[in-house]
Amino acid sequence: MSVRTIQLDDSVYDYMLRVGTREPDILRRLRAETAGLGKYAYMQISPELGQFLGLMVELTGARRVIEVGTFTGYSALAMALHLPADGRIVACDISKEWTEVGRPYWREAGADDRIDLRIGPGVETLDALIAEEGAGAYDLVFIDADKDRYIDYFEKALMLLRTGGLIAIDNVLWSGRVVDETDQEAGTVAIRAFNDHVAKDERVTLSLVPIGDGLTLARKR
Ligand code: CA
Repeated sequence: MSVRTIQLDDSVYDYMLRVGTREPDILRRLRAETAGLGKYAYMQISPELGQFLGLMVELTGARRVIEVGTFTGYSALAMALHLPADGRIVACDISKEWTEVGRPYWREAGADDRIDLRIGPGVETLDALIAEEGAGAYDLVFIDADKDRYIDYFEKALMLLRTGGLIAIDNVLWSGRVVDETDQEAGTVAIRAFNDHVAKDERVTLSLVPIGDGLTLARKR
C-alpha cells in the first residue's frame, strides 16, 4: 500500500502493460517501425499513453480534436481509432518526412479520412484555425511538440476549446529533469516555465498524471 504514486520497476511496468494495455496490432507495427528510426525514436509516445488518449477521446465525447506534434502519427491514429465516423483530428507537424511514416498505417486502419494533416509551424496552424472557426470549436487538444512554445500552444488551445473541453500536455516531467536546478537546458527551462504557468491557472481544472513522461490534463472551465 502507498499514499503516493508508486515507482514502476521493469517487472511492474511489464505487468501493467500485460493486464492494462490493449495495443491494436496496427499501432504495435507503427511503433516498431518508429523505433527503428534512430535518434529521434524517443519522440514516440508509449503504448499506455496512446491508449489513455484514446480513452480521453471517448470520455470527452470528442468529435473535433487537435494534435500539436504528430511525429510518425502514432498518437493521431491512437485517438482517431476512438473517434466517431464523423470525427476529425487536425494533426499539426513541421515534418513531412516523419508524418509520411504514419500515413500508410492511417490508410490501412481506414482512419486517414479522420486525420487532417497540416504541415507547418504549430502556432501558425492554430492561429489559422482560430481565424477560420473562432473560439470553442474543439473538444480535445493534445500538445506534444517543441517545448519552448508550450505556453503559446496552451493559450491558443484554450481559445479553440469549448467549455468542458480537455487539453493534454505531454512530457511535463521531462524524465525528472524538471527538479534538477543545475539543468538549464532550453527544453528543461521551458517545461518548468510551462508547469508554473498552468499550476495556478484558474481557467482550468488540473491533474498532472504520471503516465509516460508526465501528462498534464487541463479541463477548460
Ligand atoms: Ca512526447
